[in-house]
Amino acid sequence: MTVTFAQKLAQIPGYQAGVPPGKAPEAIAAEGIAQLASNESPFSPHPAVVEAIGRAAAAMNRYPDPSAALLRRRIAERFDCDPGRVALANGSCEILLAAALALCEPGAELVYAWPSFSIYPYLAPLSGAREIRVALADYDHDLDAMLTEVTAATQLLLVCNPNNPTSTHLRAARIEDLLERVPPHVTVIVDEAYVEFQLDDDPDVTVDLWRRHPNLVVLRTFSKVYGLAGLRCGYALCSPQFRAAVDAVRQPFSVNAIAQAAAAEAILHQDDVAARVERTIVERVFVDEGLSELGLEAAESQANFSWVPLGDDRGEAEVVAALAEAGVVVRPGTPLGGPGHIRVTYGTRGENKRFLKALEQAL
Ligand code: PMP
Repeated sequence: MTVTFAQKLAQIPGYQAGVPPGKAPEAIAAEGIAQLASNESPFSPHPAVVEAIGRAAAAMNRYPDPSAALLRRRIAERFDCDPGRVALANGSCEILLAAALALCEPGAELVYAWPSFSIYPYLAPLSGAREIRVALADYDHDLDAMLTEVTAATQLLLVCNPNNPTSTHLRAARIEDLLERVPPHVTVIVDEAYVEFQLDDDPDVTVDLWRRHPNLVVLRTFSKVYGLAGLRCGYALCSPQFRAAVDAVRQPFSVNAIAQAAAAEAILHQDDVAARVERTIVERVFVDEGLSELGLEAAESQANFSWVPLGDDRGEAEVVAALAEAGVVVRPGTPLGGPGHIRVTYGTRGENKRFLKALEQAL
């Protein structure tokens, strides 16, 4: 007899790192590689955040505050809500996994669109639920089709908005319509990892919807616009019951003390957030125009990345390999559910120019 592992492991897709594992991000940057594969911010954290990290480092002999009281209070102040309605975890990914564990069990169903965020396929095998994937319509969520899949067994419906990997965004009015039509036993998680980058609506309009719909969870992260991906801190605006459920299944110290201190500082600097959004949108326009000049029509991006169909006769693997050869790392579309595409994150102007030049040569 040998050791055997749970059968569900076979259904978990596994996460592929954007850049080859085994090297620290700063070592990769020092080699001059443009890291455009993981939708990170190309900008370092705000200097006050770096200082807060230094201060917190001196107290690393202590466990973190398991309730993350300061950070939850700051998030609550930012959104004018009760801190008891803020869930925190080790990245918004952990909130997604915790939600599946806390809401689903064998017999339950969860509904999400596809292609969408690569962590969603973990949720069914981990929780024992049955997943229903609903095809995107023209790069966008087909909310009507998703609603037709909802049954008495549906526990969770996920909407990634803007959607990763397609970069498209649904207006808040569409989310509102969904919330009015979905039965109240269904928890709707709107995953807004990239919401700050969209220009369709005020980014906090879904927060207003959340005040009126107790089954809505607004999921956000410090990994993208705040430039804190390495620290792992995500949050949800949710019901007190959802927060308690997440807290019950995640490990007690899941948000480490440095992440708590950094995020509590970062959220105070909304002017800096606005400046980062603006810089990113300038790069979005630059990359989009560059792609058009190459005859490529990307999906209409409302995020910090583009989803680029390469056309029939351009091999995705060859293009990705040629870009890597030129020191530019992007994501191939096939593992993300979109064969014939690449997903490219906006970097600095220098990196974006290198990407466009290398792409021109690869084509
Ligand atoms: N949601 C979406 C749509 C994402 O693309 C990502 C990161 N790639 C996350 C959530 C997770 O972010 P984190 O765990 O770093 O908060």
